[in-house]
Amino acid sequence: MEVRLENLTKIFPNRDKKKPDVVAVNDFDFTIPDGKLIGLLGPSGCGKSTTLNLISGLQKPTEGKIFFGEDDVTQLPPENRGIGLVFQNYALYPHLTVKENILFPLQNLKGKDKLTLKEMEEKVMTVAKLVQIDELLERKPAELSGGQQQRVAIARALVKMPRVLLLDEPLSNLDARLRLQTRDEIRRIQRETKITTIFVTHDQEEAMSISDMIVVMKDGIVQQIGKPQEVYDNPINLFVAKFLGTPPINVFEGEVRGEHLFLGYDNVLAVPGVADQKVYVGIRPEGFIVKEDGPLTCELVGVEVMGRDISVISTHELSLNPTVRTIISTANKLEKFERQVQFALVPHKVMIFNKETEERIDF
Ligand code: ADP
Ligand code: MG
Repeated sequence: MEVRLENLTKIFPNRDKKKPDVVAVNDFDFTIPDGKLIGLLGPSGCGKSTTLNLISGLQKPTEGKIFFGEDDVTQLPPENRGIGLVFQNYALYPHLTVKENILFPLQNLKGKDKLTLKEMEEKVMTVAKLVQIDELLERKPAELSGGQQQRVAIARALVKMPRVLLLDEPLSNLDARLRLQTRDEIRRIQRETKITTIFVTHDQEEAMSISDMIVVMKDGIVQQIGKPQEVYDNPINLFVAKFLGTPPINVFEGEVRGEHLFLGYDNVLAVPGVADQKVYVGIRPEGFIVKEDGPLTCELVGVEVMGRDISVISTHELSLNPTVRTIISTANKLEKFERQVQFALVPHKVMIFNKETEERIDF
């Protein structure tokens, strides 16, 4: 099911009455293709949950429209939209068994949709197998791990075969290992069911790994939409560049003079076609090459060996991050360096941004 958002806007009166209204979602325009998994990503308070609540119908937009396929669902109540919802807290009924929890949405079906008990049990079994909890159906939620509880919540959201699946930070209550595992599970389930899915998270790594496309939001405004790798490689502005990637992008104060990029006195890269100006310079951690006569000199702090890679940690007086973090292959020889380390740069891992607008400047 394709989901189309047209000029979607939600304005809340401020909780603090003296302050101006909050534009939680500002003119969101986007078509989510049928059968895809979209990661809605941004820092806390940027309007992710509000966007999801508008799509689910839990909240009404101030302006704009929502279409599921050709259906205008903007005024429909949530129960008539054909959605499945999963939240951070699993919100299972504690006194019901797993089976009864999953059965619950089916018991409310009325009229021609009403099912026999046998039909309901078959549907429960199908989704329980899909999310791999068919062994746990007689247990109560308290007898399950967090990961298992979240699978039950996903099964419950899926049992009516929704047109759209909406997940709001579904992994945030899980520990690191379960988070990875459940993330892969959600991806597998989405691929198998092909249900159009919107996955909200503040965790860029999670969004990058799970999504067909990511939507990066800030202050209610969509910054950029694209395939995870495309957005990582070509961020539209400094905010998006900084939000994606671990370790984060290294940001420096720099200057373009005569179509060359300078960090202080160091002429680090040719930037053909760029006018003279002060800029922010972003360099991805993998954009550094240790090279004895490299143009960028940093003060060495330490070296961490992490299996395949080495992380070289250094400082530079024009760095806006406390340390410069680089990831280089263990094939590099570092013994020669003691106090300082010289780097050459990988051109397509270096980005420059306008100092006022923070938009990226092409070169
Ligand atoms: P996120 O899910 O990205 O953390 P939210 O969508 O929950 O962000 O919130 C976006 C903004 O809208 C925040 O500034 C939040 O304080 C505000 N907001 C959300 N719900 C309400 C509400 N019911 N009343 C007033 N302000 C709200
Ligand atoms: Mg939220």
